[in-house]
Amino acid sequence: MEKELAKKGIISEGVKEVAKRESLSPEEVAESVRKGEVIILKHKNKYLGIGKNLRTKINANIGTSPDVVDIELEIKKLKLIEKYGSDTVMDLSTGGNIDKIRKKIIEESDIPVGTVPIYQAAIETIEEKGGIVKMTPDKIFEVIEKHAKDGVSFMTLHCGVTLKTLERLRKNPRKAMVVSRGGAFLISWMVVNEKENPLYQYFDRLLEIAKKYDFAISLGDGMRPGGIVDATDNSQIEELLTLGELTEKAWDENVQVIIEGPGHLPINEVGPNVILEKKICKGAPFYVLGPIVTDIAPGYDHITSAIGGAIAGWYGADFLCYVTPSEHLSLPGCEEVVEGVIAARIAAHVADIGKGIKGSAEWDFEMDIARTERNWEKERELSIDPEKFDKLRKKFPTSEKDVCTMCGKYCAIKIVEKYLRTKIEH
Ligand code: SF4
Repeated sequence: MEKELAKKGIISEGVKEVAKRESLSPEEVAESVRKGEVIILKHKNKYLGIGKNLRTKINANIGTSPDVVDIELEIKKLKLIEKYGSDTVMDLSTGGNIDKIRKKIIEESDIPVGTVPIYQAAIETIEEKGGIVKMTPDKIFEVIEKHAKDGVSFMTLHCGVTLKTLERLRKNPRKAMVVSRGGAFLISWMVVNEKENPLYQYFDRLLEIAKKYDFAISLGDGMRPGGIVDATDNSQIEELLTLGELTEKAWDENVQVIIEGPGHLPINEVGPNVILEKKICKGAPFYVLGPIVTDIAPGYDHITSAIGGAIAGWYGADFLCYVTPSEHLSLPGCEEVVEGVIAARIAAHVADIGKGIKGSAEWDFEMDIARTERNWEKERELSIDPEKFDKLRKKFPTSEKDVCTMCGKYCAIKIVEKYLRTKIEH
């Protein structure tokens, strides 16, 4: 239990490893873990820190759907996600043998694995009993425990969708309603059964399981806006207030917490949303799902989300969930997964330059020099996607090897080097 050790003033193995990797002192990291501003995820004896003063991390989602069940494809995506540099992976499978797929992903993964157990609880209830309304609280907690036993490092749990949130939604209707799958499952159960969300009502039971198996809770945003039309509305803020209260309850039990956030936000509301989360949830790490800053670009949502992610990260968001070009259109394939990871990594890196994270701007400075020197080998080595670098460099071959075909013999850098530098040097 990282938080418990930090509270006792013990420098854990996890703290040491995170401190080393992030070029910080172990004491500094331990203090952030004690305060809840940093969480440390463990996966197969490796540790990953997420939170204040650390490099902005990214997550990539994979998993089957009811229509596309291909475990080999999901493992192929996992390997690409690792190759292209995602920090974590979430298995969001909703089709096929969910237990088998999750176990296989955990076994194959070198990075921490997250899940959303309510999917499995709801799907199995529908299959076994014919409707989600028959799902029992025991079923939900059994699935959570099963995921924990398998070695899941963090779980999205939509504890903040309460009867009060639904009342707020009724009084302030939305245009795009609810787009969170977990939120939708829970809301339909609550409305028909006229009962409180079991994840909220029995939060203590959830904390007991989290303590026993030592996983982090990612407090899900079931009420995240599904379009910028509903951004930062009453229901979203009502849920955030509840998540703030639950964060402190979890911390009292030494359970590590991250807070999930929107979703879809216009660019001018991205920063304020980060500020609100940090205030209301007392500095708990913020895990943003994008955010997507315009809704008119299906096929390009890796770009719309990278714009939102860069701004959110710069304002202090700690963890960016990737979005692929397939968002709102289909299950992503391998190509879209790679594009999503690269886009999210660019967003996180841009944020880190703004945050002043050690090594971030320096990476760019090295590239600037290599570019000025037209050192193509070095440029390739420093580029975030060397394969794309090669592909485009070779697209239109140049007769002059030290320039590119954009300007050819009129290469501005070369001209300046030849005339201006010589003049200055003389
Ligand atoms: S040819 Fe133009 S684009 Fe290419 S390296 Fe030179 S200045 Fe840059």
